[in-house]
Amino acid sequence: MLLLRILRFVNRAYPFIAFGAYGFAFVVAFICMFTFPLGALTLVVAGVLSLAVVALGSDALKGFERVLSRRALRRGRCPACRMGPVQSVAEGWSCRGCAANFDADGTQRVVDVADEPEQASEDAAAVSVA
Ligand SMILES: [Zn+2]
Repeated sequence: MLLLRILRFVNRAYPFIAFGAYGFAFVVAFICMFTFPLGALTLVVAGVLSLAVVALGSDALKGFERVLSRRALRRGRCPACRMGPVQSVAEGWSCRGCAANFDADGTQRVVDVADEPEQASEDAAAVSVA
């Protein structure tokens, strides 16, 4: 479970870390353009070639997280809140503790925030009428 928590954190931070690394490489390459042009060229080539490794690493980490999430969900524990209870629904799993939804492959489904205020205002209107 600790490994799953670490993996969830790494997968959430991974895009920002990758973007930060490429941004830092851009700044270094920009400085090298005026001082050491071969370094700038090397950084550009290394940046383009490393894109595949970064993308494959992201996919591998997400796949490993899905495997651990499925294992935790089968044991009745929610990967998001580490408690539960987790109930099996038609399209995957749903945590009754934190209302997180998971696909059958272990991917956590993201709730569309744009639908939330509409629902809340309808509830408020129903309460005010009643
Ligand atoms: Zn939960």
